[in-house]
Formats: sequence, C-alpha cells, structure tokens
Amino acid sequence: MSSLRILVTGGAGFIGSALVRHLVGTTEHHVLNIDALTYAGNLSSVAPAANSNRYRFAQADICDRERIGALIAEFRPQVITHLAAESHVDRSIDGPSAFIQTNLVGTFTMLSAALDYWRSLPEDERSGFRFHHISTDEVFGALGPDGFFTEETAYDPRSPYSASKAGSDHLVSAWHHTYGLPTLVTNCSNNYGPYHFPEKLIPLMIIKCLAGEALPVYGQGQNVRDWLYVDDHVRALTAVFERGTPGESYMVGGRSERTNLGVVETICDRLDAIRPRADGQSYRTQISFVADRPGHDFRYAIDASKLERDLGWAPQESFESGIDKTIRWYLDNEDWWRPILARTYSGERLGLKSA
Ligand code: NAD
Repeated sequence: MSSLRILVTGGAGFIGSALVRHLVGTTEHHVLNIDALTYAGNLSSVAPAANSNRYRFAQADICDRERIGALIAEFRPQVITHLAAESHVDRSIDGPSAFIQTNLVGTFTMLSAALDYWRSLPEDERSGFRFHHISTDEVFGALGPDGFFTEETAYDPRSPYSASKAGSDHLVSAWHHTYGLPTLVTNCSNNYGPYHFPEKLIPLMIIKCLAGEALPVYGQGQNVRDWLYVDDHVRALTAVFERGTPGESYMVGGRSERTNLGVVETICDRLDAIRPRADGQSYRTQISFVADRPGHDFRYAIDASKLERDLGWAPQESFESGIDKTIRWYLDNEDWWRPILARTYSGERLGLKSA
C-alpha cells in the first residue's frame, strides 16, 4: 500500500496511540494526531513516533468545528480514523454529560467537517477517501451464556457510555446513507495491552498486586468479556481502512472469553511466577469482592468471521501470550504509569454515583 495521509483522532489515548506507533513505526503513512488531551490522553504514549517527519500532533477538541475544519483542510487526509471518545463506562455512570458531548456532538462535528472536505475533493480522490469510526461491542447490550455478536445484531445499549457510542454509530451510518460519505465502522471487544490507562481492569490489577493492595473484583467476578490484544486490534483497523467496503461494519474480537475473576487470577498466577511476593504467598490472597457495577452487562462475545473471511485478519496473540506481554510491560515501564497515578488517578473506585 502506498503512503497515505491518515488523520487519527484520539491518538494520545490507549488504542489511538497504539495505532499511531504502528503507522509511524512500521508503515510509510503520514499521520496527523488530533487529541484534546483529556485525563485519558497522554503524549508520552506517542513518544516513540514524536520525532518522525511523518508525524504531527495538534491539540484540539473534536467538538470545535472551525478548528477541525481548518486542520482537515491543511492536512488533506485520505483516511480519517475516529477514535477520540470518552471511553470509560464507570465514568459515564458518574458523569454522563461529557459522553454526550464528545461521543455524539464530537462525532457529528467530525462527520460534518469530513463531509464538507470530501465534497470539495476531485472525483478520483473522493472515491478513495474513508471515514473510519471506531466503536464498541457494548452497543449490542448483554449476552447470556451462549451466542455471539455479529454485524447483524440489533443495537441494545445499556449504559450512558454504550448509548452514546450507539448514537455515534447511527450518525456515521446516516452520513453514509444520506450523503454518500464513504464510512466504515468497527465494533470491537475489550482491548488490553501496554499504555492502558491505570483505571481499567487489567492495568489496575497489575498495579494493585505490586502495591500489595486489595484487588477489587465487581460482584462475584462472573461477568464475561472477550479480550483483544491492542496490537491485534490495530492490525484489524489497518486492514479495514485499507481494504474494507464503504458503508459496512466489521466486528473485531480476540476469541478470548474470560470471566473477570479468571482474568484477575491469571494476572496473579503470572505475577507469582515472574515477580513473586516477598512473603511467598500468592497474589490471589489479595482478591476482594466488592459491590457490582450498576447495570453490569453479563457477557460480551464477538464473532469476527466477516473480518477473518473478507479481509484475512486473525488475532496473533492468545490471551496467555498477550497478558504475559502486558504484565512484563507494566513491570518495565513504571515511569509511564506512576506519574499518571500521581497526577490523575490514584486507584479509587469509580461508577457508584448516580447521575
Ligand atoms: P481512551 O480513553 O484511552 O482515549 C481517548 C482519547 O480521546 C484520549 O486521548 C482523549 O484525550 C481523547 N479525547 C477525548 N475527548 C476528546 C475530545 N473532545 N476531542 C479530542 N480528543 C478527545 O480510549 P481508548 O480505550 O483508546 O478507546 C478509543 C476508541 O475505541 C473509543 O472510541 C472507544 O469508544 C473505542 N473502544 C475502546 C475499547 C477498549 O477496550 N479500550 C473497546 C471498544 C471500543
């Protein structure tokens, strides 16, 4: 694939920064990263790309129509990959308003700016342009013990976060059907890996293990998630915006279903082997069950057959290999996560306030 100009929104976040590092580090593409640097954005996550002459960063809010329009006009992207969002379910329970603003108004603003720009392009450039919206499997609600989400599953969001993402998916679909904008949507399962903000389950448990603190597991820990290693997700995103069919959506999942308790126990067992506790006891003794998340969806699971069949993608990491890489990364990169703990988040429980 020849060199493209790719605009990434939310490129200082967890998945966006992995995409930026991949595009700048292993392809010839040019990248403009637009990020407002909220609590979740961190420029140290894109430090490996920062000195490349194929990388630029602009601090901007995706709700700022004028600024976004000007940045698009100047950079002239061939692809927009839209990841900027408020992304944490627990925070959406405590304060939904930012989720409505960024995920709905922000996505509308990106679509509106993209459409004006796309219409201004000559015909040959217009047909190659792609607007790729990154979404979640949480828009489909909860599954029972069986079954999988597919591209045909009906929307049934349950949390303020998933409702705002569902709304943004519908806006993207409307801009395709109404105005002809060449859009793509991907809905993925729970990501994990390096540079993950410390309030999310996997990094939180690793860090609390090392601190000798209680490991708070919601409810009885029986909720099931399908875990996707972030670099596998990035490879899927690249395949979709390079070769996906405009107007379509694709499911991305890691084929790695685990209960939350199973995830925490695996982390404890791996750390017992790699960095045993000084007193010789297992990290499992730190597990402590706490009040469940309100409206906690029981199970999410993805059938990614369409992506595998049509675009030849498959996850390269098993949960065991991915969690091992992740744990070792957190052990080796305290200088990335310790300042975040000191500055923005110190491990407290989120998601129990009423809106
Ligand atoms: P994240 O919270 O780590 O990063 C979001 C980024 O967006 C941050 O850098 C933040 O500064 C930026 N941002 C927030 N509001 C903004 C605004 N108004 N203007 C510009 N930038 C803004 O999120 P993530 O985990 O990297 O998720 C990226 C995308 O993938 C999101 O759209 C999310 O809904 C989706 N997703 C994530 C997961 C997951 O497991 N992390 C799963 C499914 C889907």
